Amino acid sequence: MRSKLPQVGTTIFTVMTRMAQAHNAINLSQGFPDFDCPAALRERVSFYLNDRRNQYAPMTGVPALREQIAVKVEDLYGCRVDADQEITVTSGATEALFDAIQATVGTGDEVIMFDPAYDSYDPAVRLAGGVPVHIPMRAPAAGQGWGIDWDCFAERITARTRLVIINSPHNPSGSILTRQDLDTLAALIRDRDILVLSDEVYEHMVFDGSRHESVLRHAELKEKSFAVFSFGKTYHATGWKAAYCVAPPALTDEFRKVHQFVTFTSTSFIQHAIADFMRDCPEDHLELPDFYQQKRDTFARLIADSRFSFTPSAGTYFQCVDYSAISDQDDMNFVTWLCKEKGVAAIPLSPFCADTPRSRVIRFCFCKDDSTLEAAAAVLREL
Ligand code: PMP
Ligand code: GLN
Repeated sequence: MRSKLPQVGTTIFTVMTRMAQAHNAINLSQGFPDFDCPAALRERVSFYLNDRRNQYAPMTGVPALREQIAVKVEDLYGCRVDADQEITVTSGATEALFDAIQATVGTGDEVIMFDPAYDSYDPAVRLAGGVPVHIPMRAPAAGQGWGIDWDCFAERITARTRLVIINSPHNPSGSILTRQDLDTLAALIRDRDILVLSDEVYEHMVFDGSRHESVLRHAELKEKSFAVFSFGKTYHATGWKAAYCVAPPALTDEFRKVHQFVTFTSTSFIQHAIADFMRDCPEDHLELPDFYQQKRDTFARLIADSRFSFTPSAGTYFQCVDYSAISDQDDMNFVTWLCKEKGVAAIPLSPFCADTPRSRVIRFCFCKDDSTLEAAAAVLREL
């Protein structure tokens, strides 16, 4: 059969988790926490399940949940958004990203993304008939972490550029965008017909006292952006596939035209439960930066004496490490060997890049119990 995505295989997250299971390896590959979501939230889920909230929720999302999201957005980012016209609940951030791309990108439209780029962006652009434009991020060098080369971005803008996808905190690099990055982006797309898709699913995982710079805090970008967030990350519940998109009314109208035919709506009892939990425990997410910073530091301490080199992540629950002192295999071969022969699964970066990266870097996920991190590190220190 003719494939619409001939160059796409099975996502690396499925490949590595399957490999980890098959070889009984410690799974630091696919990003999902060891720990459970808050007990009070689970109680609400079971309440609404048993309360028979089992039929379709409204297409745009349960009103009480959208109202709580509006409160949170105002508290966090100081901007008022209209719960009816600017917030849509989706079945995971993956769906929201897909909807935003299908809603805005047409045949031949160019979409700029920065490599390593989360693996769902490129295929979603291709399915819309668009042309992905991959710009490599600046890899870490002396004194500087990963970052976006805005001069390079400026050079790649054309009359066909329709959308730019940013992701901060960034998976897989663990870097974050600064206010200056957002100002530069805003200036470079000013007076052009270019929209922004801002993937902010790790909004609460920012370390060392830094602040997450949402496009929602940026008056100019907010007017041309879809901002995407995920309850899966915030509540340690990746399996619920509950997320939302915030965008100005005109963008939200177009977004919903797609959302209504992709999933129509999202699981109803989970939406009711999250609405109650956000109302009753609005401060729950405030613990996340410290919680994950401790995890980052624990993992960094545990592998400090290994032959991996790395700069501690500024955000997310991922740590990229350079393995060039250990092996000169390419990253896919290295993670395969590490999983099958040594019993630790990781994620290679090449599936996130249009051009095979020259650097020898892989990603570990540290949202795991300390005992899991210790067991993995014991192996990693011996390499
Ligand atoms: N974007 C990024 C950068 C991610 O890491 C993830 C992780 N799962 C997603 C989007 C998708 O989120 P969800 O599980 O809510 O679909
Ligand atoms: N976002 C998760 C990660 O980066 C995985 C998501 C998925 O498996 N689709 O590991």
